[in-house]
Amino acid sequence: MEKQAFPLRPHHGLCLRFFQGKGYSDDFVANMGIIQQTLESNPMIRLAPEMDKICGSCPNNQSGICTTQEKVLRYDAGVLRLCGLEPGQILPYQNFARMVTQEILQPGRREEICPDCQWSGLCQWKQEEP
Ligand code: SF4
Repeated sequence: MEKQAFPLRPHHGLCLRFFQGKGYSDDFVANMGIIQQTLESNPMIRLAPEMDKICGSCPNNQSGICTTQEKVLRYDAGVLRLCGLEPGQILPYQNFARMVTQEILQPGRREEICPDCQWSGLCQWKQEEP
């Protein structure tokens, strides 16, 4: 089971929710769209604060280390903490997405996690989201 789970950085649960075709490079944007589609089928995911398939097409991925490592590890830890999840936890993507909505977005806590992200201005949660 664990080997088949789709690896996902915890804070990417927020990035995926707000993705609107903008990102670090054309490759990054194209890859992000593919991953969004993949996750629509609700695969099991493994939440780990490490490089994932989104990082795989990111220009900030320098030989497996993010150039903003301090920030992204902090974001990963924040998402896990607010959702009450542990590093390495495996669960269906939709369950995780629901936790992100209920524990972070609905209570208005997104900016506690990633206020200093360069894309933060794009990430305005709308009440009509599931
Ligand atoms: S900025 Fe860092 S954490 Fe975010 S996708 Fe790029 S390599 Fe991954």
